[in-house]
Amino acid sequence: MDNCIFCKIVAGKIPSKIVYEDDEVIAFNDINPAAPVHVLIVPREHIPTLADANEKHTALLGRMMLLAPKLAAELGGGYQHTPEGPMGGFKTLVNSGPDGGQEVYHLHLHIMGGPRPWRSER
Ligand code: AMP
Ligand code: ZN
Repeated sequence: MDNCIFCKIVAGKIPSKIVYEDDEVIAFNDINPAAPVHVLIVPREHIPTLADANEKHTALLGRMMLLAPKLAAELGGGYQHTPEGPMGGFKTLVNSGPDGGQEVYHLHLHIMGGPRPWRSER
């Protein structure tokens, strides 16, 4: 899609800090991070929203979800079971449409993790 910023990142036409890529997806740092680790997992295929995905995308969506904990761990925002209890962790988020807070209409999975000292509940 000519006017899609994430298609341009996928095509290497605008810069990004890529942290992972394979034949189906790329992942890069969010330009306006909401957490110490904030990456976006983006399919190479232009799928505008999660509501536009269909059965042929089942494996792709599964791969995106399974990549999330691996990337979070690699980037320092992973979750661990420990003898002391659960440690670390991250959020996964897909915004869809105006009421879902979507700004970029190319499907993407937010991964947000890492210690957040400003959070009062910690
Ligand atoms: P959403 O509201 O789910 O559509 O989120 C879009 C996200 O894309 C936001 O968190 C933006 O900070 C991020 N974003 C927009 N442009 C870029 C860019 N050129 N490189 C990296 N992240 C971007
Ligand atoms: Zn696109």
